[in-house]
Amino acid sequence: MLVVKFGGTSVGKPERMKKIATLLLDTPGKKIVVLSALSGTTNTLVRIGDHLLAQQQTGAQQEIAELEKHYTTFINELYTTEAYKAIGQEIVSRYFSLFRLLAAGRFDERSYRELLAQGELISTELFYHHLQERKTPARLLPALHFMSIDENNEPELEKISERLKPIIETMSNVDIIVTQGYICRNHKNEIDNLKRGGSDYTASLIGAAIRAEEIQIWTDIDGMHNNDPRIVKKTVPIAELTFDEASELAYFGAKILHPSTIVPAQKYSVPVRLKNTMDEKAFGTLISNKGTSGEFKAIAAKDDITAIKIKSSRMLLAHGFLRKVFEVFEKNKTSIDMVSTSEVAVSVTIDDNKYLNAIVEELENFGSIEVDQNQTIICIVGNHLADKEGVLRYVFDSLGSIPIRMVSYGGSYNNISILVDRSHKDKALNLLNEGLFGLK
Ligand code: ADP
Ligand code: ASP
Ligand code: MG
Repeated sequence: MLVVKFGGTSVGKPERMKKIATLLLDTPGKKIVVLSALSGTTNTLVRIGDHLLAQQQTGAQQEIAELEKHYTTFINELYTTEAYKAIGQEIVSRYFSLFRLLAAGRFDERSYRELLAQGELISTELFYHHLQERKTPARLLPALHFMSIDENNEPELEKISERLKPIIETMSNVDIIVTQGYICRNHKNEIDNLKRGGSDYTASLIGAAIRAEEIQIWTDIDGMHNNDPRIVKKTVPIAELTFDEASELAYFGAKILHPSTIVPAQKYSVPVRLKNTMDEKAFGTLISNKGTSGEFKAIAAKDDITAIKIKSSRMLLAHGFLRKVFEVFEKNKTSIDMVSTSEVAVSVTIDDNKYLNAIVEELENFGSIEVDQNQTIICIVGNHLADKEGVLRYVFDSLGSIPIRMVSYGGSYNNISILVDRSHKDKALNLLNEGLFGLK
């Protein structure tokens, strides 16, 4: 069985939705199809939710009305027959009545999460009826029946698998099973989600849960590129990546994949293929256990990083000092990305400032603290970087005069991480593209 995920742009226009239906019909075998919301929908739902939390009814109502117009046009182009246009209209009316109901009630964080989930629910329902109109046998599989996260917001892979397998068995008579990406239930059984971009994660979790043959992630670009195409002009797709390499790139900011996507697939060695809906023939990227040659493979960057320096000449060399420092982060449920130490200070980076004040307050017991916000981690990924000669020289030579705040090297075979101020990010990515890949 294949798991095939289509992102927002791949379903964002009626003709694209029709195209992916054709693509699925042309792909032999059984498939679980994971869909995102139509492009722009989740962003709009976030704006509606923000208005409502701030009790700005007018703003919310305007956004709802505009979104409804968009969906009304969409269904009229998606469906051809009057009968299906009527079905489409019924679906749109039902969802928008719900939005207005949510807006009229006591709007809290829970209603917010319920609102965010509607994007994927509506896109899958519209797509399912498009398949029906084309007389293609398919089933709708509600993600809220099997996808769950625990009290730490971690997906419950074993439980997902236990719930999913028997449901799929009941659907053995069809080749296309359509489900929602992104959405799930939390430990209180409330509607929740896997964070922005989470549909990739859904696909990987399903792929791991059913030990799929392959997980395909269809998007608007021909695979993982060697650098961020939104910032660097000349980038090239990478044909093959190992799970470790892809995992580092996703975690450190390559937007094409949700940061955790690779983890479940890697656990059960299910290959992940990245494909381009706009150019089906392009090879894309194959992510698997197989390593490939090539020194530098790709660069990714992760913003909104905070660096914390703890200066303590008195305590740094004492036994157990680092443990005490790390315990502060553990207690405050904040994970550390980079670490660097010297005789008088230790610097760490975090990507979540939720508990920053509490962390700083506790760390002040150990010494003086400096906090730098708006930093960016640039992650250079490649094959056996740690045992090749002179790799750091290439990196430093490429970066020229860009000030580097921290460096992490040797932690794994395939990663060099560098911390720079956010203001230097774009220039640094371009310089590395030229220096490491000869692309200008
Ligand atoms: P989808 O809606 O299909 O999930 P996303 O917008 O989340 O698509 O991801 C695809 C986008 O990721 C591309 O259009 C591209 O701009 C961006 N991107 C960032 N870094 C990379 C990279 N290294 N390789 C490919 N795409 C990247
Ligand atoms: N629709 C969600 C988002 O925009 C999930 C996804 O597209 O992957 O974040
Ligand atoms: Mg995405």
